Amino acid sequence: MPSIQFLKGVGPKKAELFSRLGIETLDDLLFYFPRKWEDRRLPGKKDPLPFLEDAPVVRGKIKSVRDLYTGSGLRIFKIVLETQYGEAEASFFKRHSPRFDVFAPLRKDLREGRTVWVTGTPEDPLFLSRLRADEYYGDDDARALKMHVGRIVPVYPLTEGLTAKFMREAVYEAVRAGHEAVGDFLPPVLALRRGLAARDLAARAIHFPENNFELAQARRRFIYEELLLLSLAWAIKKRQTRSVLKGFTYEIKKTLLTPFRANLGFAFTASQAHAINEIFTDMQAPTPMARLLEGDVGSGKTVVALSAMLLAAENGGQSVFAAPTEILAEQHALTFERFLKGLGVRFALLTGRVKAAEKKKILSDLAEGKIDILLGTHAVISDGVKFKNLRLVVIDEQHRFGVRQRAALRAKGDRADMLIMTATPIPRTLFLALYGDLDLSVLRELPPGRRPIKTTEATEEVALLAARDEAAKGRQVYVVYPVIEETAEADMRSVKAEFERLKVFFRGRKVDMLHGRMPGELKKRVMEDFAAGRTDILVATQVIEVGIDVPNATLMVINNAERYGLASLHQLRGRVGRGRWDSRCLLVPHARTGDSAERLRAMVQSSNGFELSEKDIYIRGAGEILGVRQHGDMDFKLADMSRDKEILEQTMQDREAILADDPDLEKSENKGLHRKLRDLYAARWNLIDLA
Ligand code: ADP
Ligand code: MG
Repeated sequence: MPSIQFLKGVGPKKAELFSRLGIETLDDLLFYFPRKWEDRRLPGKKDPLPFLEDAPVVRGKIKSVRDLYTGSGLRIFKIVLETQYGEAEASFFKRHSPRFDVFAPLRKDLREGRTVWVTGTPEDPLFLSRLRADEYYGDDDARALKMHVGRIVPVYPLTEGLTAKFMREAVYEAVRAGHEAVGDFLPPVLALRRGLAARDLAARAIHFPENNFELAQARRRFIYEELLLLSLAWAIKKRQTRSVLKGFTYEIKKTLLTPFRANLGFAFTASQAHAINEIFTDMQAPTPMARLLEGDVGSGKTVVALSAMLLAAENGGQSVFAAPTEILAEQHALTFERFLKGLGVRFALLTGRVKAAEKKKILSDLAEGKIDILLGTHAVISDGVKFKNLRLVVIDEQHRFGVRQRAALRAKGDRADMLIMTATPIPRTLFLALYGDLDLSVLRELPPGRRPIKTTEATEEVALLAARDEAAKGRQVYVVYPVIEETAEADMRSVKAEFERLKVFFRGRKVDMLHGRMPGELKKRVMEDFAAGRTDILVATQVIEVGIDVPNATLMVINNAERYGLASLHQLRGRVGRGRWDSRCLLVPHARTGDSAERLRAMVQSSNGFELSEKDIYIRGAGEILGVRQHGDMDFKLADMSRDKEILEQTMQDREAILADDPDLEKSENKGLHRKLRDLYAARWNLIDLA
């Protein structure tokens, strides 16, 4: 495929910028899809769809030109246009320079009598015909009319140094050069059945659609492709996982499981018992387990995972348990210690801050099989970590780990079983699309005796007074801030600054601070003090979001609550309500941003993680929530799982039909799919094995 440098105006420097966006070839550019589309047609010709954004544009004959200075050193170049709808005004702003005339080019281009197009933003929402100008083009500029104005115009994710205009021109060239080469890999019968646009036409229309209908068709075509390929990849992966034999069998001996249950001091909930049953059945099966355990915050996933690890240990196998943060791994270590007491199970904690000598000992013990359970952070994935006999991989809070990290961990064993845990429950179709290679267990209830957490919005003052009351009753409080240090953004409170202030406010109480950039030793001490009840009020960042379990903590105050996503707010809230007392969560917004009011309202109304994650997916889109984008695992360029549900359902059906008829995609009509899957998911993501 020709390199991007093939294009006019793209030299090594520009190529480097493109490469930052993952664009190396003309083909990459052709399939670099817009983030959104602006409707730059003239008023009266617009007809917006949900994914089309109205963009102000005026076209008219220049009546007058004025050049103004402002006191603050700004210069304004103002033109008045005679348009079809009356007079319009456009202003260009530039900083004054004593050395040259900053408006020389404009003065040359924008002469009285010339007809031009100007885009920009309205200076005032009430006067749409008064623009703060952005781009301008001559009405006789045929090229500009093909790609910049008077039409629907693509808007791309950019990087510094690449302008929107340059990007549009580059893509326009790529479309012209490339669309002959856009092969259609879908079986024709599918395209026909689903009424999909031809691929070469769609490849043009996705960037430069002539109208709404073309754009809708092009979007549908590529979303269908994306989702079909992904769900096929999962189906193939699932079959591949299930087609190998573990080569050993498990036996439920209960030598460890029985004393473990005695240690717990509580009975499993029905959901937990059911999940353990499903997991044990998988582990006893001759093929490897690949299971997702979904359960709301506090539903008790850890003891389910421990049960599985003990089954492995009873049978002489090692387990690894990966947690996303040091603090969480250390919390788990305390839990493990308590529940594994007297069992003779050997477990070790490995995090980034374990000292070299200790680490060396752990690694050699692990390799010799002297450790049954290795608990740790991402550190357990690193190359030096080798097991003698790894049989079970557990991943906690899976959205903090990428698909490839999961695979790397699993590869440390030989056909090891895998249990993945998440507190972000997702709707069924979405589960199939995103984790189609996994079986699913769900914890539907919380352990008995949990008190509901009352959630309200509050002012800072009310929240801090509530914290003072709570501490006076002997309970403990979390006060969360979004950043560690102060930033230029005035409305973001910082842990460090507020800590100093709150120490004064809560005089007589023990106030402590926790954030991710403190030395590991110190973090650990702060956490231990809080867990032991020696600290009354913990001022912290979001580091406390996952896993922390202190039953005596009954109040959670979240400052700048508008900054957090629903999943994070729900996780933070889940830090309280773990003991015998009524608990509260106070959301303190310091500003209104975007959809923040909607999110806070959802929090106040619902304490159910399932409901909230459905809302969240609706508000923010699936990729963000599930960490899919963050880890670059999958390539959803266009699909938005909540909005494109119907296409998702169709691809699921079609996938079933294709695989039922041709499981290895060997038939000639499926060759294209096979090749595409290999390029995308075998070669690129190493997700499946396809020759
Ligand atoms: P999560 O699913 O959020 O990871 P945890 O595993 O941390 O939840 O469990 C939350 C708390 O509930 C822990 O203190 C745990 O010991 C306790 N717990 C778990 N299962 C039960 C149960 N069946 N009955 C009572 N308490 C339980
Ligand atoms: Mg947990």
